[in-house]
Amino acid sequence: MNNYQILLDPAKLPDAWYNIMPDLPAPMPPPLHPGTLQPLKPEDLVALFPPGLIEQEASMAPMISIPGEVMDAYRMFRPTPLRRAYRLEKALGTPAKIFYKNESVSPAGSHKLNTAIAQAYYNKIAGINELTTETGAGQWGTALSIACSAFGMKCTVFMVRVSFTQKPYRRSLMQTFGARVVSSPSNETNYGRKVLAEMPDTTGSLGIAITEAIEVAAMSEGRIKYSLGSVLNHVLLHQTIIGEEAKLQMESIGEEPDVVIGCCGGGSNFAGIAFPYVQDKLRKGKKIDFIAVEPKACPTLTRGLYAYDFGDTGQMTPLLKQYTLGHDFVPSGIHAGGLRYHGVAAQLALLCKEGVMRAVACHQNECFEAALLFARAESIVPAPESAHAIRCAIDEALKCKETGEKKTILFNLSGHGHFDMTAYDAYFSGKLEDLDLDQSVIDAAELSIPKV
Ligand SMILES: *Cc1c(COP(=O)(O)O)cnc(C)c1O
Repeated sequence: MNNYQILLDPAKLPDAWYNIMPDLPAPMPPPLHPGTLQPLKPEDLVALFPPGLIEQEASMAPMISIPGEVMDAYRMFRPTPLRRAYRLEKALGTPAKIFYKNESVSPAGSHKLNTAIAQAYYNKIAGINELTTETGAGQWGTALSIACSAFGMKCTVFMVRVSFTQKPYRRSLMQTFGARVVSSPSNETNYGRKVLAEMPDTTGSLGIAITEAIEVAAMSEGRIKYSLGSVLNHVLLHQTIIGEEAKLQMESIGEEPDVVIGCCGGGSNFAGIAFPYVQDKLRKGKKIDFIAVEPKACPTLTRGLYAYDFGDTGQMTPLLKQYTLGHDFVPSGIHAGGLRYHGVAAQLALLCKEGVMRAVACHQNECFEAALLFARAESIVPAPESAHAIRCAIDEALKCKETGEKKTILFNLSGHGHFDMTAYDAYFSGKLEDLDLDQSVIDAAELSIPKV
């Protein structure tokens, strides 16, 4: 009998997040104030975030306990299943064992609800009743809408214009949960009006939408706070629930991964599954290969520069030391919307820099090819973002087929692709381009990275 699903007893749902900060192999370069370029002070963040999250952003506590109300909300969909991809292994004819954590079962359809719930909660207990944010493909906006609705809060989502028009069902999904969805750039902010005046036909970008959402919070005199779905330390912290559960599930069947894989946009889902295992590598000397997978059209970790840069186009966010393609980089229109970000989480950047983790980049056609192989074997339609992790897992399994190695491969299925069928359609009709980032863009990016 094949044990396809390794389920965790709900009573064993981890009740603390793992904080990688004290375990990092080198000191974390401090975030810098966007105006003064001096190290950021916690009070610089109070206009945007509630105290609970500001504290987590810089916390050196090894574990941070998960509040009861967050645990309650997690129980709506956690623990998520760990699955053994027997059918995919068979289809590949590999001696490797392939496991994946299925985050697509969350009501938001992705891992992003793990942090959305926590962020809504810490705002709520700080007396905040309204959050503002940006969304690209709509995944993060959906997650925050659900979380705000669960805690009885208002939510305004600046949605990148191209998605706003091309993904009407993501928009209605957010509206179902009571969110107000605004096409970005918009007339609601100074920055949006400026962009519209200069570039009336722009498709918008995540960087522009972030600037708009931050402006709304910054101008609200403390009434509205801002929420970010990836990149920041507290976001990665909340996602470690994924890896903690996976570890318990793997241990329950006597398994340990040799390879841990995740797709990487801002870095949160990859960090989520990987960090609890990174601790074993750093502290116990376990030999584990950690692979972040990104698109060749937005190759932040594989070809970006390790430097201080802004998180948004309008230069309003603090500067983080990260891998970056430059804050005004606008990636070409690949279908993995969640992977189209110019930068990456500073913790992840540091671990790549130190050689603890590594990154690879893939073309979108090879990712869709992997997605179909996976879908037909496992009966789950993966998100185009998650298809990057699947591509890499398949490649690792095929290497084992050549060498005869019986590696244990674990990857994160960050979300399902039910709202991405137009992307699949485009692939079916052979319309996708294998977009590669031009070297001249990377050279130019250096110009838009501030000299610090
Ligand atoms: C947002 C998203 C990603 C990319 O974000 P990370 O912070 O890198 O995890 C990946 N997969 C899915 C399904 C997403 O929604």
